[in-house]
Amino acid sequence: MQTETPQFQNHIAGRTEPARAGRSFTSTNPATGAPWGRFADSDADDVDRAVRAAQAALDGEWGRLSNTRRGRLLMAWGERIAAHSEVIARLESAQNGKLLAEMKAQATVVREWLYYFGGLADKIEGRVIPLERQSVLNYTLREPLGVIGVIVPWNSPTFLTIMSCAPALAAGNTVVLKPSEVTSASAFELVRLAEEAGIPPGTINVVTGARAAGEALVDHPGVAKICFTGSDGAGRAIAARAGARLASCTLELGGKSPNIVFDDAPVDNAVVGLLSGIFAAAGQTCIAGSRAYIHERIYDQVVERLVQRARAIRLGDPLSADTQMGPAATAAQLDKNLSLVAKAVSAGGEVLQGGRRATVPGLEQGYFFEPTILHRLGRDNPILEEEVFGPVLAVLPFSDDDEVLALANGNRFGLAAGVWTRDLRRAHSMARRLQAGTVWINTYRAMAFNSPFGGYKDSGIGRVNGMESVEQFLQTKSVWCETSDEIQDPFVLKV
Ligand code: NAD
Repeated sequence: MQTETPQFQNHIAGRTEPARAGRSFTSTNPATGAPWGRFADSDADDVDRAVRAAQAALDGEWGRLSNTRRGRLLMAWGERIAAHSEVIARLESAQNGKLLAEMKAQATVVREWLYYFGGLADKIEGRVIPLERQSVLNYTLREPLGVIGVIVPWNSPTFLTIMSCAPALAAGNTVVLKPSEVTSASAFELVRLAEEAGIPPGTINVVTGARAAGEALVDHPGVAKICFTGSDGAGRAIAARAGARLASCTLELGGKSPNIVFDDAPVDNAVVGLLSGIFAAAGQTCIAGSRAYIHERIYDQVVERLVQRARAIRLGDPLSADTQMGPAATAAQLDKNLSLVAKAVSAGGEVLQGGRRATVPGLEQGYFFEPTILHRLGRDNPILEEEVFGPVLAVLPFSDDDEVLALANGNRFGLAAGVWTRDLRRAHSMARRLQAGTVWINTYRAMAFNSPFGGYKDSGIGRVNGMESVEQFLQTKSVWCETSDEIQDPFVLKV
């Protein structure tokens, strides 16, 4: 039982400090609806101090480290985070209501991310370019961009922070991190562990706050690039602001991912894939498989099994090992779940399962929502367009490959897609033709540190994970060195 509200302050240049203007905000525990912690409500002044600290670290100790040493420090950070995964998971679960087990698994697996990107740090190399004029040695230097502004959402705070920070730091940049106002606490644990691992103070700075703090970070002229993960609306606003001052962005945005089950699918696996794609994290995942297209020959049996399984999902305290689904992370998210279901119904859709706020004994004020399945949806039903970010699955029948491909691609998002079939030719043909940054065949919701992840269309710009994510935090300098003494007088033309 929480007795007093924990207080958190910004972390700048290795020191904690309150917001200069003295403002703070409160986060809420979504399982109980009670206030949980108080955080600095940062403004442009606080952001400026953090950016200056990050620039000082870049010009100082961090910037002078060899690539190999930098990589080793990232690995040591990963070790420490994994060793403290329980503490981090408890902070996150108390603020976003996701299962303790899931948050702990994420805070453990990020070690692998920091090992991989730590290992890549000294594989960043330039090239020697053979020029027509052979006396010139022309080579490239791969240099960091500078200070990176990292803005993350609430659904997987540590995981998404490390996905952004690991490649940025491996490339030699420094970071100002603005966590979500919903789940700010674990960022302080992460930066504390980074400094304990030997990463110099100022390399990673944390400023908390909501949209205004994020905007101040995007607008700061000392920030070379914004790495943003969140909703497409905020991503659009951020890209426009950053573009106004010619700063680049990596944008990891939302989705409305199709999960397609053909009539030759391994049905048992497909049912589990459909369920885990939408209900495993209460739908609060960017890759939620929220549109299930099921071949008409197996539609009834698959839908019946989905309904049975969805009905049996145990809602409850996210800290309890028995719980299978926690609450929505915020009251606003709960309202969004309710209103988008109501909108789908008023457009002619029907609720097959769930669709209402749920009550959990002992947690009556919690933001729980029933696992929901909607059917009999017209093709223009708004639920097929809008990201819910909640446990709401739309099920639709289809009859052939071209039809389902058009339905799957007929959406402005393009983050991920699932395909369930035993036919290899069909699987690879779908993989080529689906407009999505990730296509899973006979699996769903898998991710690895070395496999690129990101969105097509409105789901984003750029990639995290894999070597190409490091590339996005580097700039190339071309160095020309004349090695001969031959005079090149511009007024003496040689023919
Ligand atoms: P959000 O866009 O509301 O907020 C994300 C972060 O941006 C928060 O830190 C917030 O304070 C900040 N922010 C919001 N508006 C801003 C603005 N105009 N300028 C600067 N900063 C701003 O998203 P959310 O509700 O926290 O998270 C849910 C969304 O995140 C979903 O759309 C989900 O799909 C997406 N998401 C995407 C990925 C991915 O990798 N593609 C991963 C997880 C979540």
